[in-house]
Amino acid sequence: MKYYNIKNPERKVSFSEAVMHSVATETGLYMPEKIPVIDNSFYSGITNTSMKETAYPVLRPLLDEEVPDKVLYKIIDEALNFEIPLKKLSNNLYVLELFHGPTFAFKDVGARFLAGILEYFVSGSNKEITVLVATSGDTGSAVANAFKGKEGIRVVLLYPSGRVSLVQEHQLLFAGNNIIAVELEGDFDDCQRLVKQAFADSDLNRKIILTSANSINIARLFPQSVYYFHAFAQLQERKKPVVFSVPSGNFGNLTAGLIAKQMGLPVSKFIASTNINRSVPDYLETGVFTPHPSYRTISNAMDVGNPSNFQRILAIYGNDLQRVRSDIEGYWFTDGQTREGMKELADNYSYIADPHTAVAYLGLKKYLSGNSLPHIGIFLATAHPGKFPEEVEKTTGKKVTLPYETAGNPSSKHVKLSADFDSLKDLLAGSS
Ligand SMILES: *Cc1c(COP(=O)(O)O)cnc(C)c1O
Repeated sequence: MKYYNIKNPERKVSFSEAVMHSVATETGLYMPEKIPVIDNSFYSGITNTSMKETAYPVLRPLLDEEVPDKVLYKIIDEALNFEIPLKKLSNNLYVLELFHGPTFAFKDVGARFLAGILEYFVSGSNKEITVLVATSGDTGSAVANAFKGKEGIRVVLLYPSGRVSLVQEHQLLFAGNNIIAVELEGDFDDCQRLVKQAFADSDLNRKIILTSANSINIARLFPQSVYYFHAFAQLQERKKPVVFSVPSGNFGNLTAGLIAKQMGLPVSKFIASTNINRSVPDYLETGVFTPHPSYRTISNAMDVGNPSNFQRILAIYGNDLQRVRSDIEGYWFTDGQTREGMKELADNYSYIADPHTAVAYLGLKKYLSGNSLPHIGIFLATAHPGKFPEEVEKTTGKKVTLPYETAGNPSSKHVKLSADFDSLKDLLAGSS
């Protein structure tokens, strides 16, 4: 298997190249040259199999032989080591809970797998690599936790001062001494701007190896394709068409689902559910993609006006709008509607959802209500409600807590910087 660059398809690289040099936002992202198809006896055979058992047959054909079997088994074993249960809320309505990892959001799945893969490639190369990430919260916590203690890897996380929640900041600061948490005087857009500048700085990139742990990194997406198969494995009834609703921001999660479908998983439709950051639902409706600045909402991990993985979605369908539309429908919701969704889930199903998950529920409901055919509807729960306690308590009246520990001293390096590139560059180029 080789991987091609979407903006420059002639350029084919190995998996290690795609993972270790994932970046340069001006150029294209990497995709597998050909999405492998798994024999359909596979998914009829995965009844009650575990996430780990499902993972190997899905991941093996997506990865270059560069990752030997023994290594792949070990990474699966260490990274995908938490439950991803499919819960039934009513006849035909299910929720797939992706948030039982160490930082209580689905980003643990991709971050932990990527950490295992990068550690393997770095250990064989005698080099040190720097993983640079801009975070508004969840990505940073997942990446810090996944990479702590990994040999030869330094992680630099940029987060906007005063804009991440206490739980999230705690997860950044208590990770480990190969983690540098940079508290930036600025907002999330400043963080992203500096990260892009770092990736584009040729002088810096001559001095150090710099890669990304955002979902532009292809190694974050592959393990996410596995849980779509794993949802099927837990489904008792498989006669009706299955619909997945995916709460989307940068569209990595949805792209992973589309890859699973290309591999043969019989999904009838994907719902791209968003908040008012609606460039993809608008594209599906009008055929025109118009990125916009990001708007702040209560489902803040989805506040993305120009989703990076959109180009991967187009690549999967060869830029053919009709083909995109036959697999994906998109709906967007306001904060007011999101709160209604949270309330409805609590009142009708005794299910406490965080705001992101509520958006997925609303998208599914809207699709199913416009369809006379009975479907199995599955919405993805991407964060534990306890990550957003104020919003959940205010809306549903239910108290939610997270089972996390506050003991010990902060172990990450904590640095405060102003939002200018030179100080970040000094920090990155220095060997501290
Ligand atoms: C990151 C995130 C999303 C959006 O996922 P994408 O893959 O970027 O579309 C949704 N919900 C939560 C809780 C997240 O952290």
